[in-house]
Amino acid sequence: MYVQTVLGKIPSDQLGVCACHEHLYVDLSRIKKDEDTRLQDLDLVIDDLQLFKRLGGQSIIEVTNDGMGRDVTKLQEISRRLNLHIVASTGCYKDPFIPDGKLTWNREQLADWMISEIEEGIEGTGIKPGVIGEIGSSLNEFKPIEIEMFHGAIQAAKQSGLPLSTHTTLGTCALEQVEMFQKENLPLDQVIIGHQDLNTSDGIVLEVLESGAFVALDTIGKTNYRSDEDRLASLIAFIGKGYEDQILLSSDLTRKSHLSAFGGQGYDVVLRTFIPALRREGVTEDVINKLLVKNPQKAFSIHSRKGDLR
Ligand SMILES: [Zn+2]
Repeated sequence: MYVQTVLGKIPSDQLGVCACHEHLYVDLSRIKKDEDTRLQDLDLVIDDLQLFKRLGGQSIIEVTNDGMGRDVTKLQEISRRLNLHIVASTGCYKDPFIPDGKLTWNREQLADWMISEIEEGIEGTGIKPGVIGEIGSSLNEFKPIEIEMFHGAIQAAKQSGLPLSTHTTLGTCALEQVEMFQKENLPLDQVIIGHQDLNTSDGIVLEVLESGAFVALDTIGKTNYRSDEDRLASLIAFIGKGYEDQILLSSDLTRKSHLSAFGGQGYDVVLRTFIPALRREGVTEDVINKLLVKNPQKAFSIHSRKGDLR
């Protein structure tokens, strides 16, 4: 089993302590019209990631895709300078972030494009994505282009074996995403349903877990949406129901103001504050190791297909 990083394949067990949903080089300002959402200063990001590394962080799943200011050469540079594993993404985000040129594409065209990035590398760099993500739905609905994008992503995931990581807007449409994957026979253990710490219903998150999908509690530290105490209470409830093998953690930074240098939570927020809080609640080291190491290792390994022994 292996994981595809921006510096090539690594054995899955080398991934180590992993943040499952981050952005290291991203620009959402085209749509958001807010300069704060342009996080493209490598030196600042590297300084912040040093804190993540100092607390044991070893790998980042970087889910910035086409339309979000993706530049995988920058990810490669960060990976080399920090000696940090970084996994890059293929796909598009959600309406209205999808680039103009792809708005009219159908699911087959989108699938072909993702598969070509997976096989040949991204935009002529030769750097290959290791995940299809973050593929998103809107608040409480799928826009038509998002339906095409999901189906294209499903096709690419089936053909390539790459994991498929989703965005849900404020946690909504998680079950609808699961139903789409089930209908299309994409194995649910190849799927990560995103932003479920923003889902207001623990019951729905439990249904997603019951489906076999991985669940990302990946906006930790964004306390404007929800307090981390609430996130912690939900996580402990999910662990109590026996789902400790399917949960992933991250912080999803997208703004300059999220960096420690600007008073933000920083990429180390999960390791610095959330994990110690879990320990105080009596969560065992074995479970913490699953959340940070073992579950990402399983979730981001490329699923080998029938007869494919690479
Ligand atoms: Zn994100």
